[in-house]
Amino acid sequence: MRNRFDFLGGVIFEGCSVSNISIYEDAAVLQLADGRILSSRLIIDAMGNFSPVVRQIRRGRKPDGVCLVVGSCCRGFKENSTSDVIFSSASVKKVGNSEAQYFWEAFPAGSGPLERTTYMFTYLYPEPESPLLEELLEDYWELMPKYQGVSFDDLEVLRVIYGIFPTYCDSPLPAAFDRVLQFGDASGIQSPVSFGGFGSLTRHLGRLTIGIHEAIENNFLDAESLSLLNPYMPNLSASWLFQRAMSGKKQSDVSPTFINELLFANFQSMEKLGDPVLRPFLQDVIQFGPLVKTLGLVMLNKPLIIPSIFKKVGLPVLLDWSGHFVMLGFYTFLSSFFDPVIRPWLSSFPAKTKYEWKRKLEAWKYGAGLDYSLNYLSESKKEE
Ligand SMILES: Cc1cc2nc3c(=O)[nH]c(=O)nc-3n(C[C@H](O)[C@H](O)[C@H](O)COP(=O)(O)OP(=O)(O)OC[C@H]3O[C@@H](n4cnc5c(N)ncnc54)[C@H](O)[C@@H]3O)c2cc1C
Repeated sequence: MRNRFDFLGGVIFEGCSVSNISIYEDAAVLQLADGRILSSRLIIDAMGNFSPVVRQIRRGRKPDGVCLVVGSCCRGFKENSTSDVIFSSASVKKVGNSEAQYFWEAFPAGSGPLERTTYMFTYLYPEPESPLLEELLEDYWELMPKYQGVSFDDLEVLRVIYGIFPTYCDSPLPAAFDRVLQFGDASGIQSPVSFGGFGSLTRHLGRLTIGIHEAIENNFLDAESLSLLNPYMPNLSASWLFQRAMSGKKQSDVSPTFINELLFANFQSMEKLGDPVLRPFLQDVIQFGPLVKTLGLVMLNKPLIIPSIFKKVGLPVLLDWSGHFVMLGFYTFLSSFFDPVIRPWLSSFPAKTKYEWKRKLEAWKYGAGLDYSLNYLSESKKEE
């Protein structure tokens, strides 16, 4: 990939820090910390969750939620053939001055047959008394061997891994400045319930590559045109309820086992509904049909969990979510029935209208999770 980039004339400045960006009518000028100056028509801000540009756009606002992750890659797992996407065995527990619900993920590492990566993660309301990464790591070392059924003395620690994933309700982030577009984690396009930002980045890469190319080619580099590349996506906004529901918080009127009960009810229903419902959810794609089916089945099988959801997340979050849920249905309708009507006319539109409509069609498709395809599964079933 690097060779291809070099071959196409790309230049990489390694170990450089951006200290300043100035926007002019015909260019964006980027100043590096070592004093060098680079001029560009469009700056792609891929500086991650802690991008200084994003901090400026969000005016240093506290995130609405945060996911903390600690983990390691260790050698010495004799049983190393299975994976957990999400695992939970204990209820909400006290950590420092706060409370947290721990979730786990584990999978074989590609580096060797006995090597395994394990993560422990938790969703929090960011508050001064929220648990520290150090406190989570202390718990991780104690709990991980129990979770994996191994003795810590038999393991060789190869790597320690940790991460802080701040999340904002108003994501993805529209472009706030002409000639600067957020990309990847900086754009907030990743799901608030997973730390799978790389997966999400690759999911959107195709549409963003084409969109950015068209924006540059036609000089649609004002903030409004660039914002169409990071549009409102109801399926992403609807995921917020799940983060809220899984966040540990002191609540005397909610059972400490509520989160596990909710997860169990949901996953049990999704398993019954099969791959078309379970697979997209596990890959961070929320779709209207599967969501309606899962919620319907949970309500039928476990109606008493509904009042606890109300207590746990609160009425404002539920009302907000209902709006996104309706929009998810609307985007699904638009993408399924209106897109095929508009698409044949695109090439006859003037350049700006064409650019705007293409972005709108993408927003409907991706915002309804309809970019996700289960085709490869049906293909493999046919082969069986
Ligand atoms: C422990 C952990 C586990 C993860 N597991 C998964 C997983 O299983 N699946 C998955 O899909 N994703 C996973 N992720 C998330 C994934 O790593 C990110 O979503 C992905 O790296 C985002 O890429 P990015 O390019 O947007 O940002 P980043 O990878 O964060 O890159 C941002 C870059 O910008 C640079 N930068 C910041 N400020 C400046 C500045 N002022 N000047 C110059 N450069 C700057 C940084 O040094 C960094 O190199 C995990 C992350 C962590 C921490």
